[in-house]
Amino acid sequence: MKNVAVIGAGTMGNGIAHTFAQSGFKVQLIDVNDDALRKGVQTISKNLDRMVAKGKLTDADKLDTLGNITTFTNITEGVEYASLVVEAATENVDLKLNIFKQLNEACPEDTILATNTSSISITQIAAATARPDMVIGMHFMNPVPIMKLVEIIRGYNTSDAVTGTIVELSKTLGKEPVIVNDYPGFVANRILMPMINESIETLYNNVAGVRDIDTVMKLGMAHPMGPLQLADFIGLDVCLSILNVMYEGFKNPKYAPCPLLVNMVQAGKLGVKSGEGFYDYSESRKAEHVSDQFLK
Ligand code: NAD
Repeated sequence: MKNVAVIGAGTMGNGIAHTFAQSGFKVQLIDVNDDALRKGVQTISKNLDRMVAKGKLTDADKLDTLGNITTFTNITEGVEYASLVVEAATENVDLKLNIFKQLNEACPEDTILATNTSSISITQIAAATARPDMVIGMHFMNPVPIMKLVEIIRGYNTSDAVTGTIVELSKTLGKEPVIVNDYPGFVANRILMPMINESIETLYNNVAGVRDIDTVMKLGMAHPMGPLQLADFIGLDVCLSILNVMYEGFKNPKYAPCPLLVNMVQAGKLGVKSGEGFYDYSESRKAEHVSDQFLK
């Protein structure tokens, strides 16, 4: 496996492209949005600079990594030589089903089709293709170049051979793969999202402020980052989509998204990527919390 196509150049897509390119793979990074591609490559370059400054990579490694990445705005152009596609586009069922239909037509017959979805059924995505045995979940964690875990999700029809290939490939990338079955939220988000939702609910009920809630979880539970800050990093829109998938999938009110989360997403406060969420990430990057206005 030498050629890998990555669909989506956002928070996760650029991290996935970075990780494969740094391990020597030729990466075709594809996004429908030109600006997202430009920003994605800029982010990769900045993150590589940080690694060089820390002495983890050389300047030559940085150039090689960037040299392994080619960008495209059209799915069909970028995937024709890919042995593997990792889809990391926006968390939306219809959008993903449409992308997988296109991938099935455009990719060689033996191309493995992986999705980085946080919660959408792999089995449902696989059913949009004529190769459900070759569709698998490859769920990287944010930030991809740093986080060790890859949650590997087997759809109902995913073959043993494809699962084995993706497990070995994840190890080649220096990651720790864990195989799980295909139910809403898989393992990571089934446990993480109710905690994030409950922390938003705690803020919504005015039990404590943003910083206090995060401090309780950091200092009291030894979490490296508070749940509200983590939600900002994941993207509040992504958190809302995942909760909705679990709410629909299990038909259980315990996954119902907090109305404050819904309001913030509708107001365009998506966290780090929009410059504002529970904290302020504008120019000064002072993490001042701004969400009190939403409680009025
Ligand atoms: P994002 O909003 O940062 O980026 C999504 C990108 O997809 C955008 O650049 C958008 O232009 C692009 N896109 C939309 N439609 C497209 C299409 N038809 N073809 C190509 N590109 C398209 O989102 P993200 O946070 O990177 O999430 C991407 C996926 O990764 C989602 O499925 C999400 O659930 C999953 N995920 C996210 C996180 C996280 O922490 N953000 C963690 C694990 C998994």
